Amino acid sequence: MNRFKHLSAASVEDAAASLRRLGPTAHVIAGGSDLMGCLKDNLWMETPTAVIDLKTIPGLNAIREDADGLHLGALVTLTRIAESQTVQSGWPGLAEAARRTGSPLLRNMGTIAGNICQQNRCWYFRYPDKIGGRIDCVRKGGQRCLAVPGDHRYHSIFGAVKKCIAVNPSDTAPALVALGAVVRTDRRAIPIDGFFSAEMGAQSTVLEHDEIVTDILVPHQGPGAASAFRKIAFRQSIDFALVNCGVALTLAEGVVRTARICLNGVHNNPYRCTGAEEALVGGALTEETAAKAGELAVAGAKPLFQNAYKVPMARALVADTLLDCAPAA
Ligand SMILES: Cc1cc2nc3c(=O)[nH]c(=O)nc-3n(C[C@H](O)[C@H](O)[C@H](O)COP(=O)(O)OP(=O)(O)OC[C@H]3O[C@@H](n4cnc5c(N)ncnc54)[C@H](O)[C@@H]3O)c2cc1C
Ligand code: SF4
Repeated sequence: MNRFKHLSAASVEDAAASLRRLGPTAHVIAGGSDLMGCLKDNLWMETPTAVIDLKTIPGLNAIREDADGLHLGALVTLTRIAESQTVQSGWPGLAEAARRTGSPLLRNMGTIAGNICQQNRCWYFRYPDKIGGRIDCVRKGGQRCLAVPGDHRYHSIFGAVKKCIAVNPSDTAPALVALGAVVRTDRRAIPIDGFFSAEMGAQSTVLEHDEIVTDILVPHQGPGAASAFRKIAFRQSIDFALVNCGVALTLAEGVVRTARICLNGVHNNPYRCTGAEEALVGGALTEETAAKAGELAVAGAKPLFQNAYKVPMARALVADTLLDCAPAA
């Protein structure tokens, strides 16, 4: 690993000022479970020179509920979200997404802001430049994507963004999208539907270089609310999702009033299934309507040679996650 400076930030303003002063080769670090791997494999076009530690900032690790909803400080760990009675009772889909992320060690280290800001896991992108030389794909400033003609078994089934078919790997992202969360930074509030971006090279969000996530607001879901999360991965204990799904519904007298469904692991950004949502609203939630929603969720899929298996997987996952929200008979 290249040498870099380590600065402990005293406040959010201090961290942002350090980022501005040090320029694009400085990065913020929270739990470090993703960033340390990125530093080791030197993923950026300019070699990192400094990391700015956010963990030394007081006040960023609270879980709080008020009239607006659930507030999660940027440094709240995934373990605390998974184990919080408040989250489990009001936003169970989010608690389950946190519970299914990585291993106990990773959930103890990993923060909610780090989880939604993490880099993609494409193996060409992550290939260590010290072994056999750097692979400069589109996402690293090169001209071509190696996954399209190469091994794309874990990549997008909904096409490319700027020639890149890497997928967003976060488990909490689809739960937060389904729940209509808002990401708050030191300068603005970003509705989560507009937070992710694969347009900006080697990063996965719309954040400016010197912009820091301070907390995430997950609104109250209203009467008759239900939420759920499911994930398919090779290993139960520790693995990124092949496909995962977050769902948030409100139901009244057996009728679906509102629906938000988000798949991840299928596209560069978390993928809202709006056609499926529209079909559900106004009808009952049954095995038939859930199966129909699953069909509609993958209607636009354009799988490649090696990843067509994800299409039936995503279809079934949407249906099953929806049925997790059905009231007990
Ligand atoms: C072996 C392994 C297995 C994993 N399995 C999973 C999995 O199953 N599911 C899953 O979702 N993830 C998984 N991860 C990814 C990762 O560990 C987690 O997503 C974790 O939540 C990242 O949080 P962190 O605090 O460690 O982030 P860090 O590594 O500290 O940071 C990650 C990124 O977020 C940025 N960042 C962090 N905090 C802020 C902030 N407040 N404002 C702005 N930018 C910020 C950093 O600059 C960096 O770019 C895995 C990682 C490993 C190594
Ligand atoms: S999928 Fe994206 S990250 Fe992977 S090789 Fe292609 S351009 Fe690079």
